[in-house]
Amino acid sequence: MGAVDGLIGLAVLAVAVAAYFLPLIIAVMRSHPNAGALAALNLLLGWTLLGWVGALVWSLLSKPQRATDAQSQAIAEKYGVSAKYRKCPECAELVLKEAKKCKHCQSELEPVTE
Ligand SMILES: [Zn+2]
Repeated sequence: MGAVDGLIGLAVLAVAVAAYFLPLIIAVMRSHPNAGALAALNLLLGWTLLGWVGALVWSLLSKPQRATDAQSQAIAEKYGVSAKYRKCPECAELVLKEAKKCKHCQSELEPVTE
C-alpha cells in the first residue's frame, strides 16, 4: 500500500509541476519570441498567483507570426528562398515571394506562386 501511495504522490507532484510550468510549456509550443524572459517570470514569480497568471496571459498574448516571419527572412537570407521571402536575383535584397518588382532595385521579377 505504501508503494501505491508513493506512486500517487509522484503523479500528483508531476501534475503540480506541469501545472506550475504551464505558461512556459505554452510559450515553448507557440515558439514565443520572449520565451526566455517568460521562463524567468514563470520560475521566479510563478509561486505568486499573480506572477503565474501574468506568465500564462503573456504566453498566450504573443504573435507567433512575428517569430516565424523573422525566421522566414533568416531562411531566405541563408538559402535564397523561404516560405514568404526570396532574394532578388539582381541586388540580392530580400523581397516578398509574390513581388513582381524588386522594392530595392526596381528590377522586374518573376512572381513565385506555389
Ligand atoms: Zn533587387
